[in-house]
Order: sequence, then C-alpha cells, then structure tokens
Amino acid sequence: MNLFQKQSNEFIARHIGTIGAEEAMLKVIGVNSINELIDKTIPANIRATKPLNVPDAVNEAELLKELKDISLKNKLFRNYIGQGYYDTLTPSVILRNIFENPGWYTQYTPYQAEISQGRLESLLNFQTMVSDLTGLPIANASLLDEATAAAEAMNMFFHHSNKNHKTKFFVDNNVFPQTKDVLLTRANPVGIEVVFGNYAEAAIDDSYFGALIQYPDSTGSIEDFRSFIETVHNNSGFVAMATDLLALALLTSPGELGADVAFGSAQRFGVPLGYGGPHAAFLSTKDDFKRTIPGRIIGVSVDAQGNRALRMALQTREQHIKREKATSNICTAQALLANMAAMYAVYHGPDGLKDIASRVAVLSQALASSLKEQGYTVANETFFDTITVSGADVEKIKELSEAKKINFRYTNGSIGISIDETTTPEDLLDIAIVFAEAKGHNVAGINFDEDGQLANIPTFAVRTSEYLTHPVFNTHNSESQMMRYIKLLENKDLSLNTSMISLGSCTMKLNAATEMIPLSWAHWSKLHPFAPKGQVGGYAQIIKELSEYLSEITGFDACSLQPNSGAQGEYAGLLTIRNYHIANGNHDRNVILIPISAHGTNPASAVMGGMKVVVVKALENGYIDVADFKAKAEQYSANLAGTMITYPSTYGIFEESVKEICDIVHQHGGQVYMDGANMNAQVGFTSPGLIGADVCHLNLHKTFAIPHGGGGPGMGPICVKAHLAPYLPKHISDETGDDHNGAVSAAAYGSASILLISYAYIRMLGWEGLQKATAHAILNANYMKALLEKDFDILYTGHEGTCAHEFIVDLRPFKSTAGIEAEDIAKRLMDYGFHAPTMSFPVPGTIMIEPTESEDKGELDRFCDALLSIRSEIAAIESGEADKANNPLKNAPHTQFAVISSDWNMPYTREQAAFPLEYVKQNKFWPSVARINNTFGDRNLICTCEPVSSYATEEA
Ligand SMILES: *Cc1c(COP(=O)(O)O)cnc(C)c1O
Repeated sequence: MNLFQKQSNEFIARHIGTIGAEEAMLKVIGVNSINELIDKTIPANIRATKPLNVPDAVNEAELLKELKDISLKNKLFRNYIGQGYYDTLTPSVILRNIFENPGWYTQYTPYQAEISQGRLESLLNFQTMVSDLTGLPIANASLLDEATAAAEAMNMFFHHSNKNHKTKFFVDNNVFPQTKDVLLTRANPVGIEVVFGNYAEAAIDDSYFGALIQYPDSTGSIEDFRSFIETVHNNSGFVAMATDLLALALLTSPGELGADVAFGSAQRFGVPLGYGGPHAAFLSTKDDFKRTIPGRIIGVSVDAQGNRALRMALQTREQHIKREKATSNICTAQALLANMAAMYAVYHGPDGLKDIASRVAVLSQALASSLKEQGYTVANETFFDTITVSGADVEKIKELSEAKKINFRYTNGSIGISIDETTTPEDLLDIAIVFAEAKGHNVAGINFDEDGQLANIPTFAVRTSEYLTHPVFNTHNSESQMMRYIKLLENKDLSLNTSMISLGSCTMKLNAATEMIPLSWAHWSKLHPFAPKGQVGGYAQIIKELSEYLSEITGFDACSLQPNSGAQGEYAGLLTIRNYHIANGNHDRNVILIPISAHGTNPASAVMGGMKVVVVKALENGYIDVADFKAKAEQYSANLAGTMITYPSTYGIFEESVKEICDIVHQHGGQVYMDGANMNAQVGFTSPGLIGADVCHLNLHKTFAIPHGGGGPGMGPICVKAHLAPYLPKHISDETGDDHNGAVSAAAYGSASILLISYAYIRMLGWEGLQKATAHAILNANYMKALLEKDFDILYTGHEGTCAHEFIVDLRPFKSTAGIEAEDIAKRLMDYGFHAPTMSFPVPGTIMIEPTESEDKGELDRFCDALLSIRSEIAAIESGEADKANNPLKNAPHTQFAVISSDWNMPYTREQAAFPLEYVKQNKFWPSVARINNTFGDRNLICTCEPVSSYATEEA
C-alpha cells in the first residue's frame, strides 16, 4: 500500500479496534484465519460472490471537506413556513455540552437505572415541563414526531373505548397536513374511519370515539374549543389537542380547556430544524390513561438505602413488550432531543420562556398590523405566532421573497407566515417590504408594542396558571451553573466514553467524532423540511447516494428513508407488503408468521399494520422449527401475507434453513420481511436480498453508527425488491404522492440530518472497511465466547460451534446453585465499571453480549475478566464461603457513600466491593445510587419533579 492509499484507509483502523490483534485472538478461538472463522459461521449458500459496489474509503479530512462542499448546495433562507417546524436558538451551552458531547449522545436507553440517573433526571424534567405547560398530569419521555404522536393518541383512545365498538374519529380541517396524512395511514389498517371537517359545524354523535383539534391551528388561529370538547365528552368520546409548547407559555393550557391528551413537537425548544429532525414529540394525558400511554415514562422510586432514585416506570407496561397485545410499537424514541428541550426550559426558566413567547407574539402582531395597513387581509383575527394572509398576489410575493432569501408557506392561494424566536425587527421589516413592493408601495418602519400588550390572544386563552415553578427551572441562570448542572448529570451516566456497552441486538459501536461534526453546520441544521426543492440540493444528494448504498448493502432495489426508528421501519415495511397484496387484489392476505424469538416490536408493528400474528416455534437449538413453519404456512396459505424473521436470528446464529423458509413463504404467495437489527453480522458477506427476503429495515442507530442518544434518535429506513418499490411510503411534499400509500413520519426523510452520520460512516469505511467491520464484529464475539465458555454455559451456537456477532450466556443455573439471578450479575458488573449486556432477551435469565467491531482487545479482555471474576464470587457462594443473602452480588451496585460509610459491616471488604480488580483502580466509575426498588415506584407512580414540599415533609 502506498503512503496515500494508506492515508485513505486510515479510518478503518480507527473504527475497528482489533486490527493488529487478530492472530492472538484467532488462537484463543482455535481457528487459523478470519476467513476460516467466517466460513464456519456464515452458510455457503448465502455468501456474496462479489464485493460491495460502494466507493473506496476516504479519510476523515477528505470526508469533512466533501460534506462541506455538498452542504453548500443547500440554500440558507429565512424560514417562516412554520407547520410544526420553527427556527430556534440552541443555547451554546446546550449545543456544546449535550448535542456535541459523547457523554450524552452515546448513552443507551436507561434500562440499567443505577448508572443512568443523569438522563433519567433530565427526562423527568422533560415530563415535568410538558405536564406543566399542557396542564395534564402524566407525560411520557418523548415520541418520534408530532404526526406519529397524533396517531398514537388516536389509537390510545380507540383501544380505550374498544368495548363500545366505535370506529369514527373526527379530525378538524385545520390540523397540520402532515399530521392528517399520518393519521390516515395509521387509521386505515385497523379499521378506524377518519372524518375530516370544521369542528364548529361538526355533527358529533356517539359513533365517534374521539376527535383531534389543533391549538393554535394550522392557520394560526386560536379557536375556543371548550364547547366542542364538551360535546365530544357528552358522547363519551375523547379529545386530543395538538399544541405548541412556546404558545402555551402565554395560552391557557389544553388541560384547563378540557382536552384528554395534548401532544406536539418540542423542536422549537432549542433543537435545530435539520430538514425534518431529529426532534422530540411530547404527549401528556389524564391519569386514566397512565397504563395505556405509548412510549416510556420516567418515574420516581427509592434505592436499597431508601434514597430517591429514578427509573423507567411500569416497564412491563411498555407497549411493545406486550407483543401482539400491544397498541403501540414505540421502542427507540427521541431521548437526546427531549433532553435538549428540557435543558432549554431549565436554562430559560418560566420567565425566560414567557419573554421569548411574548417577543414572538409582539412581532407577529406588529406584522399583522403593518400588512393590514398596507391593505392586505389577515384571515385569522386571533393568533400567537402565525398569520394567514389572503387576497395577495401569490406569484409576485413568492418571487420577491425568494429574491430576498425568504420562505413563506403557500396554501390554496393564501400565504402563511410563522414568526419564531430567531426573528428580529429587521427581519420583520424585510417581510413588510416584500408585501409593499408587491403592491408597488414603500414601508418606512414597523411599530411595536414593546410593553407586550397582546390584543390578538382572546381573553379565554390568556394563561393565568403557573408553570415550571420547580427549583430546577429557576436555579441555573448563569452559564457556569448551567454547564455544571449538565456535567453533574452526565457524571452519573455510563456512556461509551467510560467503557464498552455490550448490549446484544443493539450494536453499540463507535460513533466517530468526524461523523458527528457536520450536524452542527448551519447548512445542514437550518433547513426546513418543507423548503422548496430547489433549496435542498445538498440533502437531495446525500439522500440519493445513501439510498443507493443501502440498497446495495441489502441487495435490494429501492429504499425509503422515512421511518424514524427500527420499529417504524417494521411498520412501514409491513404496510408496503399490505399495499402490494391489496394492489394485486389479495385483500385477505393478512396473516403474518413470526418466530417465538422475535423482538417484541415485530408483533406490535404487525398488529398496527392490521395483520394477524401467528407464532412459529423454535427448536431446542434455537433454530426456527421448519416443520412448524411449513405447517402454519400451509394452514394459512390463502391468507398468508408473509413472515417476519431476524437474521442472523435473535439468538445470534446464521440458520442454514433461512433460504428454505423464504421459499416456503413465497410458495404460499407471501412476502418475507427481514428485521435488519442484526445487519452488523451481514454487511459485505451476505444480504437480505441474497437470502431471499423482499423487504428489510435497517437500524441506522445500530449498524450504521448513529448514536443511541440515551434512547433515540434513530432511523429505520426500509429497503425493498423492485416489485415492492411502488408501495413504499410517500409524503405530501412528494410531487408523486397522488394515491395514498401513506406517510409514516411527519417529514419525508424522517430525521434527515442524522443521515449524514451513516453517510459518513459508509464513505470513510468504503466497501473494504464495511466488510472488515463485519468480520471483526464476528471475530470479537467469538473471541469473548472462547474466553467465557469454560466458566459459563453459552446458549445456542451454529453447527460449527461459532456464534455470529453476539452470543447468549445462560445465567439460570446460578439460581439453584447460589441463589444468584441475572439481575445480580448485571448490577455487580457496574461495580466493575461496565454496563450489563442485554438482559433476558431473547431468553429470560440470560445475558446477550455483542462487543461490536469498535472495541479493542484490551477492553474485551477487561470485560471478560470482570465476568470471570464475578463467576468466582458466585463460586464462593456455591461453596458456602460467602453468605447467600449478604454478598457482593446481592448488594450490588456499591455506591461511594456506602463504601466510605463509617458503619460498613459487610462480610467482605470495602476493596472487594468497589475495586474488585486491578484495572478498576485506574478508572473507577461510581454508580450514583444503590439498587433501585422498581415495585415501590410502580405502586406510587410519580412522573414529574416532586414539589419541594415533598422533600420538606421528610425533614419534619
Ligand atoms: C432494536 C431492535 C428493534 C427495534 O428498533 P428500534 O429502533 O428501537 O425501534 C427491532 N428488532 C430487533 C431485533 C432489535 O434489536
């Protein structure tokens, strides 16, 4: 390799941690070469015969330069398009310390609560903020976007009133168009009839289970919905209200108006536009819905020492865990963005938010007056930030405004203008000048009511109730305080900048800094998702090239980048199958075969897609039971929609029978959906297309380097064979979208800005590096398996004794030999500075380890040393040397306070508790709370910051 080619390939060795250590590792595994290992692992009948047609690798500097050049094809306009997306000022302290900080963005979903107290605290702030502003007691810790939050609300009502067999749902005309679109998509397969109309004239009767309205609505108007809500309630229906958190700083809350659910996007609380995302949606509701609310709820509980501790509440209530009984499939959501929005509220506090909202309202009012003076008609008399101008010369205004790099919204001959936090009086004058020039007039200036008299907010909607009164929103005023608060929380959380996170099925690989950097550039972050196509050339290029790469990698022909998570990809893929069958006249193909080992989102997504789930058995060795599969395919032949399989299977094995399974489904007229969560074991060596599938999703936040963000963002694009391409989800912003193959996300390309991460990942690895990454993911897993298998039982391996990119360690035997459960081992790992692997999925009582290719041999060794050391601690219990109830595992994790406490009286040393191995002394990570009591918190559900009085009573 010459010097310059070497430079191009440099990133490959930065990303893959075990390059150079292969020989030593192969020896431990007992094979001679990586090729031999791969041959033993991936069946010959599905192996790719040629290299991926993806460009050669580029180095980090080249990539950044390329992305800079491409970004300049995006045009920076001032956007007044609104419709749920507003420019915002991300406080730099939040940008630098959260958005750009691996201590926050590399976290996993807080399943191991004792080492996640920081983000749990911040998400509790988010819930409190949403609950306060919307005036409803229960809020979840974010959803994917506003439009899907609407669909979740509709579905929640539908199931809540199921006994009454009502199927009609009313939606006001003036709800955002993308929300209406997603509602239709979601309603259709499950038999909900959406009725659009004007709420003021709607004939609501008891055939409606609910209604959805927007406040302020899409024209900007602040309607008085109180009597409408009463009518819906009188007909035993429920009301969901789309709303805007910034508006609610001034407006009477939805809760006070009687709404059962409030939802919307928290984007304008400091989260960049990013051409559609990622942003956090919120949903709050009344107490009655606390067991059916979709998404995650963070709740307050206590730890083993009686101290306050947070964790995800009612986890078994998390919808997708209910599998085919689920009413939502939300798994990955938007935690990182929820944290940013919450911090925005912490930073500004109630007074700051009110000032921002008042400035926006005053500017909007001044603009309306100026345009009226010029002789224009402002269609809405009431408004917060949005006005709709009618009767203007639209073509002329469009031409004049675009010349000034200004975007308005154009609908049915009227012009919408939405003011935001970034708008200045000078911007306002520019807008006024555009409208004046269109009439051949001049404007000299605009008058503001600087005292903030807001004549356009109707009396009923003037907010009198307080919000954000908790100290957390009233303390961190200086930047020093704010920076320290963010750091305080970060320090409580174990992220990839502490140690490896070997979560099976989750692929916690490196999220390289170079992949992240472009996200902060204005030419990527400040684009509105509904900006005219001519302004988004940079995004169009990334979207086109990334779609081609992903199609090539999956062995398919077309790709949709719309779904915002893996589970949404599943749902989108199943709708694609459904639409294909319907287009072929097969309206009754609605049975889907799903193996027992499938991830819970699979059956949950299938049910959302209107399908009937039939579960297929597994054999002793973990393989799909082909005989059972065949029998069920035959039994349901006439109605078979298809199957959903994960490959390699969720047990981490490449089943040789996969091709046969695909054939069986096709013979019976079905389609094969492949869950691509385990794609990290396939890339470059095989593909869903080669295996015989028809459609798959990819978790870009697993295989393709998007960070997990503590539970989102994510992206779950789907790739399909040519025959399914016409049925991919469309979007109202597509010129092609005439027939309704409905949208599954609010924005056409989901969380478009994070696509840059996967793009950068693919470009810097190139075809060669992508395949090498797969090889090392498999190498690392087999190496760890070899180190551990002498002391632990490994469940399921392939016929040659190898695993794929992950493997399952059986911990059930320790229950009888030592009274030790998987949870004890998971918590004890924290004392060794590690995050537990995936617990009890896909097999209860086990852990599933997935090292990924990014870890180096030293880290893999340390992790194995930790597990082996824990094994010897278990042995001490087994032999009676250690007490069965009072030992380092049962008491884990050990906090700093517990260890230094003067009344330490454990039957083992403090050193064994906190520094059980030499390496721990070099880099000790302290869990900030002791083991958390889950049931206590579930019995006493508190999911907002407790009032200060609740602390005071403890003292008394
Ligand atoms: C992660 C995962 C999913 C769900 O993906 P999300 O992005 O969290 O919605 C589905 N199936 C499998 C096997 C997974 O590991």
